[in-house]
Amino acid sequence: AKADGKGTWRLFEHGLYDAALQRMALRTGLDRALANGEFELHYQPIVELQGPPRVAGYEALVRWRHPQLGLLSPAAFVPLAEETGQIGPIGTWILRTAVADAASAGFGYVSVNVSASQFSGGGFVETVRGALSDAGLSPDRLVVEITETVFLHEASADALADLETLSLLGVRIAIDDFGTGYSSIGYLRDVQFDLIKADKTFVDRIVDLAEHERLLRGIVHVAGTMGITVVAEGVETVAQRDLLRDMGCAYAQGFLYSPAVPLGQTGEVRAVIEKG
Ligand code: C2E
Ligand code: CA
Ligand code: CA
Ligand code: CA
Repeated sequence: AKADGKGTWRLFEHGLYDAALQRMALRTGLDRALANGEFELHYQPIVELQGPPRVAGYEALVRWRHPQLGLLSPAAFVPLAEETGQIGPIGTWILRTAVADAASAGFGYVSVNVSASQFSGGGFVETVRGALSDAGLSPDRLVVEITETVFLHEASADALADLETLSLLGVRIAIDDFGTGYSSIGYLRDVQFDLIKADKTFVDRIVDLAEHERLLRGIVHVAGTMGITVVAEGVETVAQRDLLRDMGCAYAQGFLYSPAVPLGQTGEVRAVIEKG
């Protein structure tokens, strides 16, 4: 499969299935996918913007190598797995695999997306602790990425308690897709975030839309006063990178540097980025 994503997400292009059939097939398939080893993690580098380009860490992004449908993007199955509860065991696999990969490949850190429902029913902190100790990875080399849906979910009280415990352990917490919700700023009071991931929809237009540029500049400033680091997502052009660097944004992630790639390619990708 090509790493740039073109031609890899075949599911919706064929139009062979109607939506309901597709959901049913995927749902049944999800039950077997873990046992059959059909999930893969790909890793996208997160690059330092101030100073020479250096890969600080990687975000783990899940893919499903479906036996009939080919490589599926998370958009095709993560929301479904969240609805059915299947994200529980899948999420545990993702966390354990990402942490083990980070230890074996020597990533600066690994950033893992965690769904709101993974905090339900307790046990999330123990899962994280177990993954770190089994892999021998120091807690400060793990970032847990959550979105504001965590605050809207029925398990939000559990989530807040878990995030506080993880923080005390030294795990860092990121708020993902920042700026896409309605009251993102308010959540900065509820959790001690270490990182803000400024959504791609912001970054997309900072060069041609003064409002977006000013808003992002404001976020970088406010974050700075709170000791929070900003990561810009979806950086695709040199002009975007330069603007982000000049406004003091610390990290960037995007196709300008690299898409998410299989673990075996991360060393090569890093070498290219750091050569400048
Ligand atoms: P996200 O966490 O916001 O991840 C960023 C998405 O943007 C990724 O899509 C990434 O490949 C894509 N991206 C990165 N840079 C660029 C760029 O420069 N241009 C463009 N056009 N896209 C870029 P992906 O891998 O398809 O993931 C989509 C979403 O699925 C993620 O959004 C996240 O919400 C969810 N997801 C992915 N992996 C996991 C996981 O392991 N667990 C959970 N719960 N959700 C996941
Ligand atoms: Ca993310
Ligand atoms: Ca994001
Ligand atoms: Ca996003």
